[in-house]
Amino acid sequence: QIQSRSYVAAKDEVAKFRGTKNPNGNYTVTLIEGDGIGPEISQSVKDIFKAAQAPIEWEPVDVTPQLKDGKTVIPDEAIESVKRNLIALKGPLATPIGKGHVSLNLTLRRTFNLFANVRPCKSIQGYKTPYDNVDTVLIRENTEGEYSGIEHVVVPGVVQSIKLITRRASERVLRYAFQYAEQVGKQKVRVVHKATIMKMSDGLFLGTARKVAQEFPGIEFDAELLDNACLKITTDPAPYADKVLVMPNLYGDILSDMCAGLIGGLGLTPSANIGEEVAIMEAVHGSAPDIAGKGLANPTALLLSSIMMLRYMGLGSHASKIEKAIFDTLAEGKTITRDLGGKASTSEYADAIITRL
Ligand code: NAD
Repeated sequence: QIQSRSYVAAKDEVAKFRGTKNPNGNYTVTLIEGDGIGPEISQSVKDIFKAAQAPIEWEPVDVTPQLKDGKTVIPDEAIESVKRNLIALKGPLATPIGKGHVSLNLTLRRTFNLFANVRPCKSIQGYKTPYDNVDTVLIRENTEGEYSGIEHVVVPGVVQSIKLITRRASERVLRYAFQYAEQVGKQKVRVVHKATIMKMSDGLFLGTARKVAQEFPGIEFDAELLDNACLKITTDPAPYADKVLVMPNLYGDILSDMCAGLIGGLGLTPSANIGEEVAIMEAVHGSAPDIAGKGLANPTALLLSSIMMLRYMGLGSHASKIEKAIFDTLAEGKTITRDLGGKASTSEYADAIITRL
């Protein structure tokens, strides 16, 4: 049974305030609306935040890649905006296919050193899935591992990809996982690994975890093999409800989508990319070009990402108010979008949320 409706409720909602306050006393947040359905779902967030009187002023930026010295780059104004505001909300960006194009998602991650990808996965009342008791948080190391991009041909027909694990990056994401557990009231941190096979790389991650765990005596720590974690969580998610799972990059990429599947798919899954100074919250799904501009998009994932953003900023009471309106609308099930089996358009769903604020 779901114990709390709250998605990622901070134990203590009076968190440290983060972000950049403007002279009006509000926080300015960079808004990257994104491609495809991005503008439609961003509009829902803007409308709902306005109706809820959340103290956020949006600074929309264009991230359409520009040609600079023969290379495509993100416009300087967008980068400057995120540097100034420290917080951004991002819609989906279509990744151009072909050589010479930058992946904007990867560029943002690298530019701002967003070392932890946080993905809460919690069953949503009103949307039927095989389990109604999923409530775990996955934290993925976001900067190295198999994704460090070090690959080469040894001889024709033989290639090597280097999995890079450093103590520094491991320590940073592991410490964040423990801090996050403390903040949201989870009792346990579990490292997911394959140190039985990757003795040195995952061994370093696991060994670092054991050391970091000593800094947090109030949080229980243990470890589980990746394959076992996949089997167990899809068989019975209940024992994972008191845990934050933390893992190297590739495992986190795969396991987090698997857990998203348990709660109804990527359309309902939010995420946060956390750096030392900057944080970018984003929906996990893509730009959905097949339904773009038709008013069919479900804005829930971006909305829940904006809830994570408010909590990160220390604006927990605003987060809870909007979150309750979203969950009540979904639970009632009358005004929901087509992907969830309803008939409502994007804006009708947003309006239904607004009437509950
Ligand atoms: P997608 O997530 O855009 O779409 C997959 C399916 O899910 C489609 O049928 C789509 O209509 C549906 N869907 C997705 N989000 C929805 C929503 N909010 N409401 C209702 N239905 C929704 O994946 P894709 O088609 O593989 O990718 C499209 C583009 O998005 C590609 O260019 C890809 O590179 C990019 N992408 C970006 C991100 C990101 O910015 N983080 C993530 C994934 C994919």
